[in-house]
Amino acid sequence: MTVGRKVLFAIALPWTLTVSYPYVLLAVCLGFARDLRWHPGGVLTATWRTWWAKIWHFSTTVGKGQIFHPSADRGAEDSVDTRLEFHEQRHDFQVEDLMLLSLLLGTICLIGGATLVQAAILYWSGGLFQIPNFLAAGLRYGPAEQEGLEDKRSDLKRLTDNMYRQSEHERSAYAQTDLIGEIGGHDVSWDEIQRASVAYRKGNLKAWIADNL
Ligand SMILES: [Zn+2]
Repeated sequence: MTVGRKVLFAIALPWTLTVSYPYVLLAVCLGFARDLRWHPGGVLTATWRTWWAKIWHFSTTVGKGQIFHPSADRGAEDSVDTRLEFHEQRHDFQVEDLMLLSLLLGTICLIGGATLVQAAILYWSGGLFQIPNFLAAGLRYGPAEQEGLEDKRSDLKRLTDNMYRQSEHERSAYAQTDLIGEIGGHDVSWDEIQRASVAYRKGNLKAWIADNL
């Protein structure tokens, strides 16, 4: 981990220790998940047990605590290497961003006369700052049908689906890790397009494609 990554890890720690890790550990202890693993960046993961995955169909990330669907394509134990793992990693990074924001807000409030406890609660609450994204997506899209699909689901189902899928943090994670283009006959993600454009500017795109795609 770089120094910067370590700083972000430390800033996110109040949320990680009180919410992210307990979420994964409790799910395992209570029999909802299995297969505890550590990943780079201090990320603790597990896999939903099959019975629970039939009820809850999603891989679910809470900062540095991530629980994957049993059908998820996962790579080696100690690395982050599949598209889904990269997707969940974006959510981890988003929580780090929010904890940095809440630390700054807490500090400003402390300087402005708030008590240490009030400032600390504001700092800790940074992990909750994604919740307004869901509400905003619900207000923005309502129960709108997905374009081009004949959508027979109830309004409530479409609304909750839009709140989840159309939230800006979810759209960002999908956009960065889904295959959204093609280079040299290979489907590529946003990240790969960025790296390919660097290789192109350096004049070694062909070699980059051979090595990476
Ligand atoms: Zn996601």
